[in-house]
Amino acid sequence: MLTTVYIGIGSNMKDPMQQVSRALQTLAKLPNCTLVSQSSMYSSDAVGPGQQDSYINAVAEINTDYSAAELLEQLQTIEAAHGRVRKERWEPRPLDLDILLYGNQIISTSTLSVPHPELSRRHFVLYPLAEIAPELALPDGRSMSQLLKECSIGELLKVAE
Ligand code: AMP
Repeated sequence: MLTTVYIGIGSNMKDPMQQVSRALQTLAKLPNCTLVSQSSMYSSDAVGPGQQDSYINAVAEINTDYSAAELLEQLQTIEAAHGRVRKERWEPRPLDLDILLYGNQIISTSTLSVPHPELSRRHFVLYPLAEIAPELALPDGRSMSQLLKECSIGELLKVAE
């Protein structure tokens, strides 16, 4: 059965725009997945301690018959191929791929929290998501317009279509 999934893509290392567009191309070629749409790219300042380059973020919509766990494994393989080695919080990263939404499912396991717990708090996730899915509602019923009202766009900049 095909499920509609939204994937958050982020990078702040090694030519971030190139990392994000390569990740989109790789997602489009994954077996069992169809890339339905992709947002513009957005730039925002890095969160956390120390000086880091700005982030580039985008959101992709795919249809897939992978389970959420299988998809996570695929995403982690793509992250690794982009040179992500250590996994510390707030480290600069060539590529970060998150499952934002997996259909209308709520998933809570040791390796997966879906909807992604930061989804409603991160402008760099919410605004690109709303760009490609303005009519979307979260499994708890909250609409995009409601979520956007509660999350300022801040310094987020659209940098490429
Ligand atoms: P991060 O360092 O933010 O990329 O976190 C990676 C870890 O988050 C992985 O080991 C996943 O098991 C876990 N994780 C939990 N929920 C999700 C999700 N919705 N999408 C991607 N990774 C997730």
